[in-house]
Amino acid sequence: MAPKKQLHFGWIPFVVCTVLSLFAASCRKEAAPAEAPRASFGIVIHGGAGAMSRQSVKPEREALFRQKLSEAVLAGHQILKAGGSSLDAVEAAVRVMEDSPLFNAGKGAVFTSEGTNELDACIMDGQMLKAGSVAGVKRIKNPISLARLVMEKSPHVMMVAEGAEKFAMEQGVTLVDPKYFFTQERWDSLQRAKEREKEREKEREKEREKEPKRSSSLFDMTIPEKFGTVGAVALDKAGNLAAATSTGGTQNKRFGRVGDCPIVGAGTYANNQTCAVSATGHGEYFIRLNVAHDISAIMEYRGASLEEAANQVVKEKLTKLGGTGGIVAIDKQGRIALPFNTSGMWRGYVLGPEGKAVVAVF
Ligand code: ASP
Repeated sequence: MAPKKQLHFGWIPFVVCTVLSLFAASCRKEAAPAEAPRASFGIVIHGGAGAMSRQSVKPEREALFRQKLSEAVLAGHQILKAGGSSLDAVEAAVRVMEDSPLFNAGKGAVFTSEGTNELDACIMDGQMLKAGSVAGVKRIKNPISLARLVMEKSPHVMMVAEGAEKFAMEQGVTLVDPKYFFTQERWDSLQRAKEREKEREKEREKEREKEPKRSSSLFDMTIPEKFGTVGAVALDKAGNLAAATSTGGTQNKRFGRVGDCPIVGAGTYANNQTCAVSATGHGEYFIRLNVAHDISAIMEYRGASLEEAANQVVKEKLTKLGGTGGIVAIDKQGRIALPFNTSGMWRGYVLGPEGKAVVAVF
């Protein structure tokens, strides 16, 4: 007798699960970005994140920051409104902040442990995935513009220290005397940081006397509390995204230290398929998590909204690892996200043709 045909229903749960998960994914995509502002073009900037409170920031100082942030964001917006490129807009906005002593970039760069100023910057074009960056430069007034020259006039992506300065000279950039970056406020701040470091060293010395096997580390530095790096991201009328970030790095940094800002994918990233991101915070963590690219990748691979992706990386992954800081981002639909896990982040944006400059701190 021929064996009875067996009917197999094992595929049913698989099909049901697939249909349900596709339905759930489509609901998630629809719902998430609803509240986020969106526009046909726009620019978002930051002037650093950190431990700030309404008590610690004096009203006169806050007014100065707000005024400069408005100036910077409007400089970029004006370019976009006139039909200019997102690359021109982010460069212009960052230059305004680099020229101000208020921010830890360009003129206001913090001092290294050796009392020098070593600047990093990066710019990225989301259309072609082109990028240019410089690190450890000491005589460049506007590192963001040198980063753009690296992107546009060299076959390379990243140039450092004297080599980058040599390239700058070849490109006709006038180098400044390193004294240009001296500001009394940053110098005094470095002295206070060194005093605190000495105090901690004394404490560690006492602990070692009690416990001689305890290891000591030259890099046992304080965790920076304030990050004054500057950055901008923009979407232009042609639908192109760009990101730019510029910094003096972390105060009291040791010989040759480079942070996240000039590293493509860590502190700066732009991709027309997803978003443009600029970061500020404790660079070592941003490098380890590849923060800026991770946000883009979550959008690309999982179909997440910008808001979901940015919150997941900054509020969950970065926070879990112990890193502090924030990001500003804009996506190809002109939606923006500005998450941070510190008490404040200097930030501002202007969206669309009639957009007003919105500036915030806490
Ligand atoms: N991210 C910068 C760095 O680590 C610091 C900052 O944001 O101010 O170099």
